[in-house]
Amino acid sequence: MTRPELRELPAVDAVLREPVVQQWAEQLAPSLLTEIVRQVVQEERQRLLAGESREERDPESGAAGSRLPKLAAIVSHRAQEWAAPSLAPVINATGIVLHTNLGRARLSRPAQAAVQAVAAGYSNLEFDLATGERGDRYTHVTRLLTFLTGAEDALVVNNNAGAVLLAIACLARDRGVVVSRGELVEIGGSFRVPEVMEQSGARLIETGTTNKTYLADYARAITEDTALLLKVHPSNFRIIGFTHQPSRQELVGLGREKGIPVMEDLGSGLLLDLQPAGYPAEPLVSEVVAAGVEVVTFSGDKLLGGPQAGIIVGRRVHLARMKRHPLLRALRIDKLTLAALEATLRAYLEPASVWQQIPTLQRLTVAADELQEQARSLVAALPAQFGAPVAVQADHSQVGGGSMPGFSIPTWVVAIKPGRHSAQRWAEQLRRQSPPVICRIQEEQVLLDMRTVLPEELPNLARALTRAEERLTEERTG
Ligand SMILES: *Cc1c(COP(=O)(O)O)cnc(C)c1O
Repeated sequence: MTRPELRELPAVDAVLREPVVQQWAEQLAPSLLTEIVRQVVQEERQRLLAGESREERDPESGAAGSRLPKLAAIVSHRAQEWAAPSLAPVINATGIVLHTNLGRARLSRPAQAAVQAVAAGYSNLEFDLATGERGDRYTHVTRLLTFLTGAEDALVVNNNAGAVLLAIACLARDRGVVVSRGELVEIGGSFRVPEVMEQSGARLIETGTTNKTYLADYARAITEDTALLLKVHPSNFRIIGFTHQPSRQELVGLGREKGIPVMEDLGSGLLLDLQPAGYPAEPLVSEVVAAGVEVVTFSGDKLLGGPQAGIIVGRRVHLARMKRHPLLRALRIDKLTLAALEATLRAYLEPASVWQQIPTLQRLTVAADELQEQARSLVAALPAQFGAPVAVQADHSQVGGGSMPGFSIPTWVVAIKPGRHSAQRWAEQLRRQSPPVICRIQEEQVLLDMRTVLPEELPNLARALTRAEERLTEERTG
């Protein structure tokens, strides 16, 4: 502390009194604002001690002073970061419809309204309005789920990973679960079938090989101790070429013969056939239930198009056990999610309008012409002086969320051609806009895919592009 420079360090109080700092006093707690100032002053002290930052001596007095506005400006910037929400909407221009990092499915308008209504006040979450007695939160969606899937009973938890954990813990704790080696997958980095099995207290019995597993392999793996035959949707990867897996019916037949239930983790829970819209065949939840699979789990926020949730449908006897299991309490779904899920499922009661109502389904099936039109109107909304070459071109989008890997959907994009600024610099600048725009970079071009951008987002997107271009130009010239 003996260095002369330290005498130039402004006092915490002095920084606090600066008008640019005081402007935050209404939004942030005094103790927080003081703490920010303390940190900033402390960091400056470290820099001074390290011999950096000797600049900015006031030329007139030759003494301290100019350090004060600099530190006040840093404090103001940090205060602004504190005052702004961290979790906030972005424009998804990646063309990945179910982008896990961007929150997967958009909610439908009825689902948004249902969340709002339940969030604002009390609800009959666990209250039976008919009897006036304690009710059960799961009943709000049971009827819808059993109708839509044909299953006897249904249950919902926090997410599909939780659904699998609960189901296995309940049905196979301390016993064996037979899984094909071709289905021992890792999904999204943290969901690995062998590890989930371990957590649920069951023993994994691997059978077959990575590419070929026959019914006889399952039969051979079954012992006295086997509690479950588990099928797992490989989701984000595919084994192609020389492959074999027994059909669902064959596996169910074997299970019945041996008195062992079959469970299937479907990943994306598809309730409607997407093949007429040009998508590859995927098992529908109702088909899996009809095939005799006794427990089926899937996500609420993948192809179903609802909130994050794990849905379990199947035989009443198994679900009754899950409803009594202590893990259910730990994996409990909250009222906001339930509200969104119920409204999402309700949309499926009207098959004619569901394709328009559920944003995920709407964006997966929107006509290419419409996307081309959107791309053209985005380009038309850019100012005449927009300083980068842009083009409307055909490209391909992805489903995402581990659904239909490798399958690409024809789309239309607005491409910003490489010019004075690299694609990386563009992407970075677009992320800094409000709302931030997340784009796709391909062959050094910035692509804005219209499949994941709604028409009402186009004005904001045009504004973000315009401002990003201005900023890039300023940085270059200034
Ligand atoms: C996505 C997926 C999961 C994990 O589901 P979350 O809802 O993200 O927890 C589990 N299994 C399969 C097969 C999946 O595709």
